[in-house]
Amino acid sequence: MNSFDPGKIVVRGAHFIGGEYVDEGPQRIDVARPSDGVVYASVPVADGALIDRAVDNAWTAWRSSGWPRIAPRERARILRRFADLVAADVETLAPLEAIGSTRPIRDAAAWDVPYTAEGIRFYAEFADKLGGEVMSTDHDHLGMTIAEPYGVIGAIAPWNFPLVMASWKIAPALAAGNAVVLKPSEMTPFSVLRLAELALAAGVPKGIFNVVQGDGRTGDALVRHPRIGKVTFTGSTRTGAAIMAACAETGTKPVTLELGGKSPQVVFADAPRLDAVARRIAGAISGNAGQVCNAGSRLLVERSIADELSERIEQVFAELKPGATWARGTTLSPIISEPQASRIESIVQRTVAGGATLRYGGHRADGGKSGPFYWPTILSNVTQQSEAVREEVFGPVLTLQTFDAEDEALELAQHPEYGLAAGVHTADLGRALRFVRSIEAGTVWVNRYGRTSDFMIPTGGYKRSGIGKDLGRQAYEANLRFKSVLIDLRS
Ligand code: NAD
Repeated sequence: MNSFDPGKIVVRGAHFIGGEYVDEGPQRIDVARPSDGVVYASVPVADGALIDRAVDNAWTAWRSSGWPRIAPRERARILRRFADLVAADVETLAPLEAIGSTRPIRDAAAWDVPYTAEGIRFYAEFADKLGGEVMSTDHDHLGMTIAEPYGVIGAIAPWNFPLVMASWKIAPALAAGNAVVLKPSEMTPFSVLRLAELALAAGVPKGIFNVVQGDGRTGDALVRHPRIGKVTFTGSTRTGAAIMAACAETGTKPVTLELGGKSPQVVFADAPRLDAVARRIAGAISGNAGQVCNAGSRLLVERSIADELSERIEQVFAELKPGATWARGTTLSPIISEPQASRIESIVQRTVAGGATLRYGGHRADGGKSGPFYWPTILSNVTQQSEAVREEVFGPVLTLQTFDAEDEALELAQHPEYGLAAGVHTADLGRALRFVRSIEAGTVWVNRYGRTSDFMIPTGGYKRSGIGKDLGRQAYEANLRFKSVLIDLRS
């Protein structure tokens, strides 16, 4: 898709409740374009009263619209139509996604929108596949489980991939027969409104897919609402912990948490095709300017190839083109906001002050004149205690540590708190599998980094990176509760 004029994009700053736009709320939040900081719209903030209205409405729609009770094939058919409408809407959805987020238009059109559509299609296909099971019991009884939706799912999404992250929540929830109230990030509130419109156009009943706008206060009110049957959240570990506490305080609600990470990439000297490894590692920390939960932010490399690998990574970084998300040639995304860009800068400066070597980058692109663009950075001479090794930076900052032996590599790879993903690059299958078995991470990639479009492979973290899974059969099952039934056949 070509470049577009951001001035021509019209957005609607509102909630979407009961199939209609609702522009109410005691306050408004300005929404800025990350590429140049220009405020281009605002959204109302949903307070407790509006959350009551949205959730009560969703509950009523869930009970009266027939959504959980229609033939599962029919639900699947409606959701497939929803997926088709999303795919066909790329000319509208991609600019809407690009203007207000860090997703360059080319990526939004070629990946985010089609991937969102395909994810909806994937879960549509689940709608009639998992109804429960018959259990073996003695001959006089019939034992079984019946899979049932929760009712209203409260979904809270982050800003880094607004459409994709929201669709990971919405698609399995709807396919399983639930209603959804989604709160997008206050920084990226618009593209999911279009998704809600398209769901309605596809035949998802009014009130089954709702969007409420607001910040953390809105999210907290949503989580605490008594009619919310389950919460699914993607965002920072700190917010995830607060949400878990709120779920416990207001009804021991089940919760899926997809949280932060500090993922290692381990490269042994025998890794095949070092050039390809360098591209992979560069891509895993510079894609979306490092604003990716499973960014491969800690490079652990066997000492004998460390300099050569770093040089090759630097060459890949040097090819990147920072630019506005509406320009077709952009390959280095902006940082989401000026405060986040300053935070990245400060972490790099403090890590260097603590003894690290700035091997590459360490500054804004274009000297900072063109906005919050941070040049990919490599920090070496770091330890496990260095701030940039410990903390999730959520920017294009790669730390480089060397090792001489396999045990040492594994020890460095384990993070005391996070366990979202890990990569290992080696030609030795035994070594790769030893690493897979030992590393505490929810996903391990061998001789690649990042997921493919296989929706069956779930994603989720170990330790403080989260609880439960998005994607796969697991995410569908997480939107169902299982009722056990035992029937005495003798009477
Ligand atoms: P964040 O935690 O600041 O916000 C996420 C969402 O939670 C936003 O919609 C926000 O308004 C809302 N929120 C804030 N406080 C809340 C509260 N007390 N109760 C309810 N909702 C609240 O995260 P972010 O800055 O938007 O996203 C970046 C973070 O997300 C990073 O840590 C990243 O690793 C993580 N992330 C994880 C995954 C994953 O799959 N594990 C994917 C993407 C992003």
